[in-house]
Amino acid sequence: MTIRGVLFDVDGTLYDYEKAEEFGLHEHLVAEELSDRFESPAEALRVWREVREEEYPRFLSGELTFVAQKAERIRRFLAQAGVVGALEVTDEAATAWFASYAVRRDAVRRAFDDAQPTLGALAGRFRLGVVSNSVTAHQRAKLDAIGLLGYFTEPLVCSQEHGAAKPAASIFLAGCEALGLAPAEVAYVGDDYEKDAVGARDAGLRAIWLDRSVSRGPGAVDAGIRVITSLTELTGL
Ligand SMILES: [Mg+2]
Repeated sequence: MTIRGVLFDVDGTLYDYEKAEEFGLHEHLVAEELSDRFESPAEALRVWREVREEEYPRFLSGELTFVAQKAERIRRFLAQAGVVGALEVTDEAATAWFASYAVRRDAVRRAFDDAQPTLGALAGRFRLGVVSNSVTAHQRAKLDAIGLLGYFTEPLVCSQEHGAAKPAASIFLAGCEALGLAPAEVAYVGDDYEKDAVGARDAGLRAIWLDRSVSRGPGAVDAGIRVITSLTELTGL
């Protein structure tokens, strides 16, 4: 069946989350005089990401709210930095700490260089949408800030409002519905192999895995999954 629509993941696919996160964390730790609590900026980042990777899924599963997972991350991170009383930091104080970090992170947020040209090339020929494991208002503001929101005329589909997170089939199907297309008419593009590529394929979409770091060869993926290493390859497909 002919592909008539393309759905995108946001973080790591259109938006260079990791680079902004690295810069924002470093700047914030310097400002808070905490950078010497870790043996190197790389170690601080490793701890920060480790905590994120454990706490963010608790938001996706509905165990914690979006705000509560941020507060929990801050308490755990500060505890690992050796801050006395870190685990007793109030939600309010932790949220303020996170917000202050986020201002520094967002000051440098930008799209990947290949995002805008690719969306521009696809826009006239395909219906474009977003399916993301996040909160709609948060992702909408982010896409707006990095200059990509205008490419998405259909409603964004995010896990918070949808009620289930990728790799659940239902969220991919909701994305197709937002485009007014059948799953077989829609390609999904994302950087997470399991959540994005395997999830989309199992939901009946055309799965395209974005492997920016070229971590595995094209032969090393499961059947029904196409690998690209840059978004620019999409126009050729
Ligand atoms: Mg991603």
